[in-house]
Amino acid sequence: ESSDVSPLVMPGQTIGVLGGGQLGRMIILEGRRLGYRFVVLDPAIDSPAGQVADEQIVGAYDSPVAMARLMEKSDLVVYEFENIDPDMVRMIETIKPLPQGSNLLRWTRHRGQERKVLQDAQIPTAPYQVVTSKTELLEAIEELQLPCVLKVLTGGYDGKGQWVLRTSGDPFPPVDIIEKGILVEKFIPYVKEISVIVARGISGEVEVYPPVMNIHRDQILHMTISPAPIKEGIRTRAEQIAYHLASQLRFVGVLAIEMFVLADGTILVNELAPRPHNSGHITMDTTTPCQFEQFVRAVTGLPLRKSIRKNTGIMVNLLGEHQEAFFEQLAKLPSCAKVHWYGKSVAKEGRKMGHINFVRDSLQDLLELINELP
Ligand code: ADP
Ligand code: MG
Repeated sequence: ESSDVSPLVMPGQTIGVLGGGQLGRMIILEGRRLGYRFVVLDPAIDSPAGQVADEQIVGAYDSPVAMARLMEKSDLVVYEFENIDPDMVRMIETIKPLPQGSNLLRWTRHRGQERKVLQDAQIPTAPYQVVTSKTELLEAIEELQLPCVLKVLTGGYDGKGQWVLRTSGDPFPPVDIIEKGILVEKFIPYVKEISVIVARGISGEVEVYPPVMNIHRDQILHMTISPAPIKEGIRTRAEQIAYHLASQLRFVGVLAIEMFVLADGTILVNELAPRPHNSGHITMDTTTPCQFEQFVRAVTGLPLRKSIRKNTGIMVNLLGEHQEAFFEQLAKLPSCAKVHWYGKSVAKEGRKMGHINFVRDSLQDLLELINELP
């Protein structure tokens, strides 16, 4: 299938990337293979994406001077993380192509708006309420009943900005945090967490990746298994949700959809990410094209490639606290282990430093292998 629009940029032209993290790095590594040049804007020097880009501009995302420099050097602009001001993105859109647009960003960076978008698309979520005072919070808990999960509306990630209330004695967020707005939702006793990556191109074509299963430790993604070991019917429904959302939201780029699977097979959508996602890193070694190539294709206006799963894989995240053990084991890893290291200079606890994709023909082989690892 070919698309009926011509690409927005050609190989040799330059893509500006807002954000210098590992997602930007992996976007750039794929994009360079396709021949594009990259300039990154990030406040920290030597950022993971900056290291593999043609150039990095060191500057704040809200600095008009830094933004002007980025735009001057770019033929097209993308963002790789969501904590950017959507108004800034709107401003860029008036000057340079920014195919992802500001809408998806506006919706997904605010948990209240995200829920509204899901509701409008008739996608089921956990029962929830948005509150901005302690009184409203108490009323919400009264109605939803404990246990509940409280989440800040903006800026939360990897479980940061979350409180699980199991009993009435559990501590509340500080009042100033509550007043900025909190999403209160029912704690869901899910049996599995899965996610689906979906790409949508400029001409509206949609490619859905096979659902994967995610295992979190301390609310940070620890492991992703691809394909998710779920029943056929659940897999089909998860893919339908992804296809439906992509068609409804009409974004360009890559969207990740996190879902809870309940004991009775019900699927609830938990969270959206308007970009490639940690749970999609397994596609780098199990699926062609990987989520990063598909992202580059979507935003540059190239036709999407059909996502084809080649084998079975498990992704394991390497956090700051794992760095030392990882370095010790690096030379001893089995040959089915594909290492992806992000080049971050400081290894902080909980910080994502890299990941390993273990790839085999069957899940059984993989699980045996993982169990034998130190
Ligand atoms: P973020 O990924 O931005 O930190 P999430 O909403 O995805 O925020 O929450 C992180 C993790 O916390 C989820 O992947 C899930 O494991 C757990 N979690 C979140 N909401 C609930 C809930 N309502 N019930 C049970 N577990 C939850
Ligand atoms: Mg999440």
